[in-house]
Amino acid sequence: MVFAHDTEVALRSAAALVNTEARAGDPDELTTLEQLDDFLEEWSWTGSRTHAQHELDAVRALRPRLRALWTADTDDAVAGVNAMLAEAHALPQLVRHGEWSWHLHATPPEAPLATRMAVEAAMAFVDVIRADELSRLRVCAAEDCVDVVVDLSKNRSKRYCDGGCGNRANVAAYRARKSQRTAAG
Ligand SMILES: [Zn+2]
Ligand SMILES: [Zn+2]
Repeated sequence: MVFAHDTEVALRSAAALVNTEARAGDPDELTTLEQLDDFLEEWSWTGSRTHAQHELDAVRALRPRLRALWTADTDDAVAGVNAMLAEAHALPQLVRHGEWSWHLHATPPEAPLATRMAVEAAMAFVDVIRADELSRLRVCAAEDCVDVVVDLSKNRSKRYCDGGCGNRANVAAYRARKSQRTAAG
């Protein structure tokens, strides 16, 4: 484990949220309240909900702010994280609920969903930046892919997103080697 468990889950959840954005060839995967429900269930989000359009709009608006953290240098990431924490009046508290042992929440469960999502991501980035591990957060190495990646591997070897880019790159490399051999032969 590179970071605390709740930090790793928060980073993966934030990356998944960013990666719902429309990208080359793929539509936006967070355009309806049903899609928001599915996303929150998949990532075990609890706490208050309004199930209103403005809740969806606020979560969608969070995506570019989070994406910016992935591509920022340290100074800019610090500024972004501090702004999110200040806007939400974040107050770190140890809590446990459901199957989750002691972990950090910095917003009350009745805070708006997008605020809680922003602060959870920001708190995870606090850990990443304090550990000087911002280089583990990057954009997929495939040329046509803009998905963000959380590299939690021991040897920092994760270059591609989980959307199949790694496989595609392997196949392309294999084909390139093969056609080279054919040309040479
Ligand atoms: Zn929790
Ligand atoms: Zn990718």
